[in-house]
Amino acid sequence: MSTRTTSGKVLTVRGPVDPKTLGVTVTHEHLLIDLSVVFVDPGNEDGRKLADEKVRLDNLGWIRVNWSSNRDNLVQDDVDLATREAARFKSAGGGTLVDVTSIGIHRNPRALVEISRKARVNVVMGAGYYVAPAHPKDFSSRSVDSITDEIVRDVTLGVGDTGVRSGIIGEIGCSWPWTEDERKSVAAAVAAQRATGAPLLIHPGRDQNAPIQIVKFIEQEGGDLSRTVMSHVDIRVYDRAILRELASTGIYIEYDTFGLESPYPPHAPNTFMPSDYQRIQQLLGLIEDGYEDRLLVAHDNCTKHRLREFGGHGFDHIPTTVAVWMRRTGMSQAQIDKLLIENPRRILTFA
Ligand SMILES: [Zn+2]
Repeated sequence: MSTRTTSGKVLTVRGPVDPKTLGVTVTHEHLLIDLSVVFVDPGNEDGRKLADEKVRLDNLGWIRVNWSSNRDNLVQDDVDLATREAARFKSAGGGTLVDVTSIGIHRNPRALVEISRKARVNVVMGAGYYVAPAHPKDFSSRSVDSITDEIVRDVTLGVGDTGVRSGIIGEIGCSWPWTEDERKSVAAAVAAQRATGAPLLIHPGRDQNAPIQIVKFIEQEGGDLSRTVMSHVDIRVYDRAILRELASTGIYIEYDTFGLESPYPPHAPNTFMPSDYQRIQQLLGLIEDGYEDRLLVAHDNCTKHRLREFGGHGFDHIPTTVAVWMRRTGMSQAQIDKLLIENPRRILTFA
């Protein structure tokens, strides 16, 4: 069969849809996830006690600072909770959630269909493999071709026997330094992008130079940068010159940790995280330089503490609050619509 059956459509977990129907879209989320792979031991006795507690109001202050050092916080496997959080996004005017939970962090196709149906939002599901520590044991012995075939199958036929198809390839995980297996994983993802016309989304390693290195590799492999998203740019690239170089390649630049005010996260000692104010300032700079057609925004919700029911900002923070702040900081409504509606629609539409 042809692997290009979805051309001109956006592929959601409930099937292909007309791109015009997406509405406000956040392009990097996790409705369900097990991110235990990033867990960091707090390194002292008090911390270890807190690491094993359930997320509660009386430890939430500690968890907000040490969110990758609490085990319960890193697992969100409650379908009903995810449905309620997605429904809040819908009530705030949201239309489409892109769930880029890839293999290794507990992708759950059937549950995503249920959430989409009950919360009445579009959900687009990811494909491919997360970072090396989350790879299955046999990954090193797999060939690029076999991984490519698996991704193509997920996009064209569906995951396993579920019939639920992936509408985006990613997030494809890379570390810094980049491992051989992760390079293989990206090569397979690029081959699958070429075969299917699906968008590709990369999680770069924690270094300012990681995104450019990956972009060069994708080009070498014959990938289409205008059909590719670089995630986490807000928590990777701080140098203006490097940011401009990255943007000039034609790739989509994703500012995807909106709402996460966590300057020094435990699992990432070599990076810091900006505030929403700084994210908006960086986006304004990129708009000024002419890249407004290549910018995307999201929350990358991947822990309990960021959900509304755990005192967090939820999936609706961007439509309810960030959009207002963008306006207040000087973005026009037309520019905001590009970031929230038009750019996601373009990148998600299959070639
Ligand atoms: Zn993510």
